[in-house]
Amino acid sequence: MSRGVAKGETPDAKGNALERGLGHGTQKPLAGGPRGVSPIATTLVEWHGRHGRHDLPWQHDRTPYRVWVSEIMLQQTQVSTVVPYYLRFMERFASITALANAPIDDVLHLWTGLGYYARARNLHRAAVRIRDEFSGEFPRTFEQVADLPGIGRSTAGAILSLSRHERFPILDGNVKRVLSRYFGIEGDLSERAAVEKLWALSDECTPHEKVEIYTQAIMDIGATVCTRRNPLCSYCPLTENCIARRENKQHEIPAPKKARARREKHVYMLVAQKDDDSVLLERRPETGVWGGLWCLPEFETESAARLFATQSLRLPQPEPRHLDLIEHAFTHFDLIVTPLLTRCEGPMAVMEAPRSLWYNPRQPARVGLPAPIKALLTGLTDPIMSDERAIR
Ligand code: SF4
Repeated sequence: MSRGVAKGETPDAKGNALERGLGHGTQKPLAGGPRGVSPIATTLVEWHGRHGRHDLPWQHDRTPYRVWVSEIMLQQTQVSTVVPYYLRFMERFASITALANAPIDDVLHLWTGLGYYARARNLHRAAVRIRDEFSGEFPRTFEQVADLPGIGRSTAGAILSLSRHERFPILDGNVKRVLSRYFGIEGDLSERAAVEKLWALSDECTPHEKVEIYTQAIMDIGATVCTRRNPLCSYCPLTENCIARRENKQHEIPAPKKARARREKHVYMLVAQKDDDSVLLERRPETGVWGGLWCLPEFETESAARLFATQSLRLPQPEPRHLDLIEHAFTHFDLIVTPLLTRCEGPMAVMEAPRSLWYNPRQPARVGLPAPIKALLTGLTDPIMSDERAIR
């Protein structure tokens, strides 16, 4: 879980001015153990009182449900991006049962633009399980929570410690970075031995008292001070005993991941538009890119798109117009889409109702759309675009 650290957050993004040298010198490397109080915990709890984040929407009325939704949204996503999505989501789905009872399209609609849509599908699936197996009450035990779709060991620990003050360690991306630097854990942190070691350290550092404050504090220190690129060691309360700091290895720990070569994927998408401006969309498969979202029909070649237009849209000689390319970066590749705009007079010859719909950008249905496709469809209603189509 990165909480957007890769993109960086400033330490005073929430108005928490940090003071140079704050809290130095109170901790030893580790002397607590499972039943003791680790010096790190004491230091971080104290630090959080003055400099941690206290005003985020999910920090109020901390029910397991509210914390759960925030933890899922914060995976791979910066806090500032999440906040408006979170507020809209909680307004629409105020309870687990409300979420479970909603159509998945409603959930994906509110997730549009947040990315990593498997998170939304898992959230919905888990809500349905909680409704059906736990009468809508968030499960009581760690094992039950960790067994829900989309919830792993660290997320389960975070939910239970933050909302119920139960002592469970966490090891998201931020915590992994802080602990590996503090304890000087070098090498590939994705290897099993390193992960086990970090879990053990996280467990030893996690206090029995004020666990909810400690959990929030170590998340905050990772997000705002011990950042990936430019850790602010001079402002860090852990600086005195931090091994990475002492050995000037902040930029070597955690070891940078080996860069994978990015690839490009080129596809064509047909923008079949009727006179009322509605556009044909298809629901994408559950797995894969933009899983479960509504999208333009996609083809590997332009000739395949033309064939579809001929056979399914009954266009005798389709001459689609090339719109501006869409480029969208995914984690490991860049998707480059050539949209092909064509007019479509009548109904489709073949149409599988549950998997296709005519979407009118002027009266948009509540469905989930990939953000770049939504932008393209909205652009189609632009008067300049309409004029261009009329000229054509
Ligand atoms: S001293 Fe620097 S490297 Fe060490 S935990 Fe603090 S911010 Fe991270």
